[in-house]
Amino acid sequence: MKKILLIFIVSFSFVFSNNMYKPKNDIEVEILERMRKETLVLGDRTNYFTNEKINGESFNDIIYDLLKNYLGLNIEMRLGDWRDITYEFEKENIQILTNFTQTSERQKIATFSTKIFNEKLFVTSKKKEINSIQDLNKNKVYLAEGSIYEEFLKVIINNNDLKTEMVLVDDTIDYEDEFVLESNLSDSAEKNKIMIGNVPSSSIAVINKHAELVPIINNAMREQYSDRIDKWFQDRRYQVFKKNFEESLTIAEKNYLKNIKKIDIAYEELGEMSYFSNEKLIYEGIVPAVLKTIFHRMDIFLDDKSKPAEEWSSIFNRFKTGKVDLITLSKTKNREQAFLFTTKIFDLNIYKVNSLKDSLYSKKRIGVIKDTRQEEILRRYYLEEDIVTYDNHNKMIKDFEANKIYSIVIINPEDFEIGKYIIEILDTIPVNLGLNKKNILLRDILDKAINNLLDKNDIIEAAKFESRREKLHKLEMERKRYSGILIIVIFTVIIMTVQSYRLKIEENKNKELLKDELTGLLSRRVFNEFCDKNNEIEGSILVLDLNNFKKINDFHGHSLGDEVIVEASKCLKSIFSKDKVFRISGDEFYIYSYEKYEIEEKLWDLKESFKSSKLLRRLGVSFSLGYCIKEQKTSLKEAFKNADMAMYFVKKNKHFWYKEATKDFIKSVERKEIIRKSLEGVIETEFFAVYQPKFNLKTNTLEGAEALARWESSELGFVSPVEFIPLAEEVNLVYRIDYKIAEESIKKIRHILDKEINIKDFRISFNVSPETFRREDVVSHIESLLEKYSVDGKYLEIEITESMFISDIKDIITKLNALKSKGIRISIDDFTAGYSTTGLLATLPVDTVKFDRSLMLSIAEDEKKGKAIYIGLIKMMKSLNLKIVSEGIETESELEFLKENRVDYGQGFYLGRPTIDFYN
Ligand code: C2E
Ligand code: MG
Ligand code: MG
Repeated sequence: MKKILLIFIVSFSFVFSNNMYKPKNDIEVEILERMRKETLVLGDRTNYFTNEKINGESFNDIIYDLLKNYLGLNIEMRLGDWRDITYEFEKENIQILTNFTQTSERQKIATFSTKIFNEKLFVTSKKKEINSIQDLNKNKVYLAEGSIYEEFLKVIINNNDLKTEMVLVDDTIDYEDEFVLESNLSDSAEKNKIMIGNVPSSSIAVINKHAELVPIINNAMREQYSDRIDKWFQDRRYQVFKKNFEESLTIAEKNYLKNIKKIDIAYEELGEMSYFSNEKLIYEGIVPAVLKTIFHRMDIFLDDKSKPAEEWSSIFNRFKTGKVDLITLSKTKNREQAFLFTTKIFDLNIYKVNSLKDSLYSKKRIGVIKDTRQEEILRRYYLEEDIVTYDNHNKMIKDFEANKIYSIVIINPEDFEIGKYIIEILDTIPVNLGLNKKNILLRDILDKAINNLLDKNDIIEAAKFESRREKLHKLEMERKRYSGILIIVIFTVIIMTVQSYRLKIEENKNKELLKDELTGLLSRRVFNEFCDKNNEIEGSILVLDLNNFKKINDFHGHSLGDEVIVEASKCLKSIFSKDKVFRISGDEFYIYSYEKYEIEEKLWDLKESFKSSKLLRRLGVSFSLGYCIKEQKTSLKEAFKNADMAMYFVKKNKHFWYKEATKDFIKSVERKEIIRKSLEGVIETEFFAVYQPKFNLKTNTLEGAEALARWESSELGFVSPVEFIPLAEEVNLVYRIDYKIAEESIKKIRHILDKEINIKDFRISFNVSPETFRREDVVSHIESLLEKYSVDGKYLEIEITESMFISDIKDIITKLNALKSKGIRISIDDFTAGYSTTGLLATLPVDTVKFDRSLMLSIAEDEKKGKAIYIGLIKMMKSLNLKIVSEGIETESELEFLKENRVDYGQGFYLGRPTIDFYN
């Protein structure tokens, strides 16, 4: 009877309260029904920011409302001393905590909801200046005893080789004048503060006994509460700012603010610091983002007087003559005499870019822009005679490229490809705003505003993210534009085809049409007849296609496109004067040549002839070509098909500029086709994982393994992943391989744990292809595997590649963060020197970078240069706090080199081959 009544009440509330949670299935109905019978105690600490009322409600009120009113649970709130609350939670007398930082230790007693807020860790000081991590060297840092932050600090100290003493104290409040470690949720000022890391996120925690409530809480969060919580945090930041800021103002400053109408500012092109956004047509970046927030919160109109692409000297002039009030200006000794500076907004990295050309170490001349903070820093590290100063950035870059100087010191290294240059972080400098001397009141006000901007680092992160998104978006748009052009081309081709059909009717009457109108070459119709009549002919069969012809048409117009076709036809005619040249479509030509033995020479002649044409050279027109030697027994059509496959291969793989369709080539194309077809049905049965060990190079201990896919095909024998992975990607099956290997890896961990082998710092990594990562179910699938085998994410790592970040980076980062919140580590695989995502690496949620074997091979090719690149990259990764795994270690000497240069982990045949019976 009671049950019926309950169901009635439950359904009653569904019908009449539209603002109540609607269970998603029968199981949820049953869970809620059961839980509603109990009294659940919700705990949080007193004297914590979660109790502050912002616009009439506290953070705790929101969580209480979610559980009590939205889910209809019987909730009792209990506040208390944090130690007591967590103790009661462990004893299960409190069943839910409004917020609890996720750690793997705590996962033993609690199940966590999706994250509600991020904590970041800072070292701050009320008195001592701190500008970079290095300032902690030979200093003490105070932190609360028993806090989970200790591990984070240890890592930072270790990675940066700092001599820093950690002092554990009861309460850091007593040590605020010294360096203390604390999270961003405390209200301390922004002055003398640097971020040292992200703490795992905080979530609502439920005792494991009631874990089934968590998915329902997550649904509720998604449906309405996460927006509400976000807004609460935002309002809180604003209010804390306002209160602290207003309290800090003097009467004179208050009056100044009352009377001021607007402030004029001008920005300069400084990479992500400030850049002209082509999307929004205004200046964006870190400095604009911070200033917009500050002035908005002060209710002052900030008038952006920037001009796109304005020279620095011109901006500086406008500033000096008082036409703008504020500019971004780094402090130098000279400038400090003439201007006022605000407190720092941000720490900017200064990069030294070294050329790899020639005598890298013998000549040390380094370029730098005159009268800048960079110059001051450089003078600290290098001798007078090594430094060359420039007024003009472009001139410096020109000299650098012409090898007149061997290094430059700059702010924005993104234009320099890592493989061609060694890029290292030389130092960090504080970025300030500059004001004219008369603006002393405004300077003091700005200082107070900057110091009270609690969410400054969030604003900076968001701005950095936005600048990178815009950059990638631009790349993406360019790509799309070309595909847009492709559609137009296809359309044109269709129209042309229709047109040519119409013409075909008349063709019989008009012999001239046997020739291509534009070029005078033989037309497709003649080609068909030619094939029918000459099937047994011997010789060479060629297929040629111009490269990037669509771009030429687009950028220079169709009439120039036509000229290019005519010109290319002339070249063809001159080289293959005795042969048959057909124009098959737009920029595609088929050639039959009597020449059977020296056809390659003719190809080179053709290339030369393209080069000697003024027009083709000017426009950089090149071609891709495939050919085959035709025997009597192959039909002409088949021979052209083979040549076409070879041409397509050249295009697709950017392989040289011509390719012969040999028997082997044709075989391999056919093999690929067989593989593509047979993959589908055998992934579950014929695929398995092997494990290659990874070693910690500092301690020489086994610290993990990479799971690699193997395929023992009943049809084809052993097939290498190098062969099947790209093909599986083409036919959209790679995700099934990845999921299979992921499952094997997780199963393997379960197996090792069951054997009670101690694997504290041990992880198995598996590869996830970009295609797989784009899937919507990738996170939930991995989560469900963890659940299925009751394995903690801390035993796992996923390996992804850089190419993944070209598309929808926001989605990717969200997914990576979701996996990270499960304890899974993220590693960038196949990192080579050719591709510059270093700028991006700093903001990606990545833990490890795997250096590809090719980097090691470049040492064998050119020892000095190869080592310089390798060491440069190691330095860079260390400065980004990333761990390094070097792949493909094959010899003792390679291993020694890596150890000497403090690479963290190693993997390779010398240390251990992939094996199937790993920990069996
Ligand atoms: P990877 O992820 O970079 O894996 C490392 C490859 O280097 C493996 O080749 C490994 O056997 C090989 N290797 C290890 N040590 C040495 C060494 O000392 N010298 C040399 N020359 N090679 C070494 P494998 O197993 O053939 O895999 C090749 C690639 O196939 C992998 O490169 C990975 O990109 C892909 N792959 C393998 N399994 C999977 C999978 O399950 N999913 C996805 N998406 N890709 C996979
Ligand atoms: Mg890998
Ligand atoms: Mg690799």
